Amino acid sequence: MNSLWLDSVSKNISFSSLPENKKAQVCIIGAGIFGLTCAYYLTKLGYHVIVLEKDDIGEKATGHTTGKITSQHSLFYDYLIQSYGEKFAKDYLSANEQAIQDIQNIIQEEKIKCDFALENSYVYTTKNSELRAIKKEISALDSLGFHSEFVTKLGLPFEIEGAICFKNQAQFHPLKYLYGLASSITNRNGEIFTHTTVTDVQKEDDSYVVFTNHHTVVADFVIMASHYPFINFPGFYFTKMYQSTSYLIAVDTKKTLPHGMYINFTNPIFSYRTARYKGKDILLIGGGEHKTGQPTCYQDSYGLLEEEAFRYYPDAEILYRWNTRDCISLDKLPYVGIYSSMMPNVFVGTGFKKWGMTLTNVAANIIVDEICGKQNPYQYLFRSTRLKPLKNHDEMKNILVQSTTSLFFDKLKLSPMQFEDIANNSGGIVEINHEKVGIYKDENGKIYAVKPICTHLGCLLSWNDVDKTWDCPCHGSRFDYQGKNLYDPAFKDLDFYVLDS
Ligand SMILES: Cc1cc2nc3c(=O)[nH]c(=O)nc-3n(C[C@H](O)[C@H](O)[C@H](O)COP(=O)(O)OP(=O)(O)OC[C@H]3O[C@@H](n4cnc5c(N)ncnc54)[C@H](O)[C@@H]3O)c2cc1C
Repeated sequence: MNSLWLDSVSKNISFSSLPENKKAQVCIIGAGIFGLTCAYYLTKLGYHVIVLEKDDIGEKATGHTTGKITSQHSLFYDYLIQSYGEKFAKDYLSANEQAIQDIQNIIQEEKIKCDFALENSYVYTTKNSELRAIKKEISALDSLGFHSEFVTKLGLPFEIEGAICFKNQAQFHPLKYLYGLASSITNRNGEIFTHTTVTDVQKEDDSYVVFTNHHTVVADFVIMASHYPFINFPGFYFTKMYQSTSYLIAVDTKKTLPHGMYINFTNPIFSYRTARYKGKDILLIGGGEHKTGQPTCYQDSYGLLEEEAFRYYPDAEILYRWNTRDCISLDKLPYVGIYSSMMPNVFVGTGFKKWGMTLTNVAANIIVDEICGKQNPYQYLFRSTRLKPLKNHDEMKNILVQSTTSLFFDKLKLSPMQFEDIANNSGGIVEINHEKVGIYKDENGKIYAVKPICTHLGCLLSWNDVDKTWDCPCHGSRFDYQGKNLYDPAFKDLDFYVLDS
């Protein structure tokens, strides 16, 4: 399902796929907000940059985000102080506040029309029992010298117990912003190639060769801005992160809409903001979070959001429904810096934990400084080679159990489903000649059969009946019902079967 952003951006520049072997100073893999922000800063400094994108620019996480630009990452600063100390928390806050300013500067300097608007951001609770957590976060922010405000009234159509307000945060149309960046990059002789899948990166003398499905780019520096690093070794990022999916709906109503950006912090989590649509404001509601690849149903995803919309806006018309996912590291901090000490000059930025609008700007500044040989004051916050004690033991255990189960045990278990059990417009795994086969029957009963084994690391896929996709419960790769790869870290399609009738 297309997002509001994808549907309302005018794609004023078109790109082609990589036509021949090329050379560049910096090759960037991925044209989401992170890749294009790196490319923007580097081309401004005069570097020759080539960006390689598997699909079209901004079509993945960035084209399906909520687009809040804020340093208020739910309740986070008390956690940071407890885990890493005051200086660390203060620097994290300053880095993200600086990013809001940097994004605004880019928009002004490049005259990007992207519906940028300053708004207050709020984390709220409707439960008295959660007020303690709110107060603790405010004390944490006070101790960092940051002025936040405790409020008990919001523009939302329901009562709250309390909220923390961050002033001067912002929102925008993320894809209009990306197309603005792309135009500035190409005006400064940066090159962007789309529909070009990178398959490998290898060191050769003092450079790196970036292999794509057809040609190569040889570069001094490589930035993996592919959201999830798809090269597994020697980085091992697949052992340090998981992916989490959330859903969004865009709602039209005649009722007055709340201005500002809002989120609560315990399940069910709902996120709100307004957006411009055909000359007026509409409401975006987000939520329905679950680990990517875990089974879900309409009621727990879009259904939950629609219920929320109709409860408060009975005249609601649902204009768009979409979802995406983001990487979350086990200590809740992004990985930014060299991909691995065994591959110097290859950089990575990932694990933006659903707050990538500011964090990708911070990450881009860190990596650009590293390439220029400059010290960045925030680099130490997100060191990509860190081996700190894990903060999230439960999730670590989950990753190990889920990966082992999907890699080995589930593959050996007999599928409980028979071919006849699969209803039209649904899917499931059956056994045919002792082999597992993923079956989707369309509305008319036409059958699509794939090998339901992830092309990333070989986990058994699960059927997602909301989106009609095959999803990986280990690392979050996704494929459509015909086996076409949709989402990283996998980049190869699934094998498909032609079944004899
Ligand atoms: C539901 C949801 C709501 C969110 N809302 C917010 C919000 O309000 N505010 C906020 O700050 N953050 C938010 N986020 C997080 C934010 O959207 C992401 O952190 C950010 O978009 C990540 O950008 P990216 O450039 O790293 O990834 P992407 O936008 O996914 O870009 C990566 C690109 O790399 C390409 N690629 C992948 N593999 C290859 C390959 N092998 N070869 C070539 N190209 C490749 C992909 O096609 C893709 O275009 C949200 C996340 C979710 C899930």
